[in-house]
Amino acid sequence: MKKVIEVKNICKNFGSGNNITKVLNDITFDVEDGQFLSIMGPSGCGKSTLLYLMGGLDAPTSGKILIKDRDIQKLKDREISRIQRSDIGFVFQFYNLVHNLSVEENILLPISMSGQRVKKYHKKLDEILEIVGLKDKRKYIPSHLSGGQQQRVAIARAVITNPSIILADEPIGNLDSKSGERIMELFRHINNEYGITIIQVTHDKSKSLYGNRLIELYDGIIVEDKVVAN
Ligand code: ADP
Ligand code: MG
Repeated sequence: MKKVIEVKNICKNFGSGNNITKVLNDITFDVEDGQFLSIMGPSGCGKSTLLYLMGGLDAPTSGKILIKDRDIQKLKDREISRIQRSDIGFVFQFYNLVHNLSVEENILLPISMSGQRVKKYHKKLDEILEIVGLKDKRKYIPSHLSGGQQQRVAIARAVITNPSIILADEPIGNLDSKSGERIMELFRHINNEYGITIIQVTHDKSKSLYGNRLIELYDGIIVEDKVVAN
């Protein structure tokens, strides 16, 4: 299987001197193309830090991250931005939607921001709206939607560029269980239908059972890495 992300001996500290926080301590694992990986661990154990490193949003103190064979530490910021735009979709706990834009404008934002013509994406937009179940809400603004619906907009926005990887930081941490379940089913669908690799982090063990692989973090190290059948 092809590796889409390789995490090699990653350490991450914040601060310095007497004020140093050692968050990640020699973390190594690979993510294979098409996996749906859940990274689980208690609050403060370094899940978000690890996810941001994997997406090139922050740099490790030591170690290497490879995204599709490219060592991102060796790339210029401009090249990292290009990888983030074309290969990675980010999903966050609090959706990060633009409040004065409609659902469809939010979804098309990565397209308009990168200077492409949104017209070319109308068919793809229709298809994605159908998948996330928001066809009838396309003209709504985010504040007129429920939390679960807003997260579905965020997922649609992450998928519109056809990334190979989605990095999701506690994507259902702010949702009731029913809406959360729907989001997880949506990830599963995107994973199955488009073959997009999904990496989600969660502090809730019950939410980690949707994927096909589980990594457990504790005190900055991997304490478990296993295949999950479902
Ligand atoms: P999790 O997502 O598992 O809750 P985080 O990765 O957010 O954990 O944080 C892990 C630890 O690193 C925490 O102790 C947090 O306070 C610390 N931390 C995270 N980001 C920073 C930062 N930018 N500066 C200083 N400390 C940070
Ligand atoms: Mg976090």
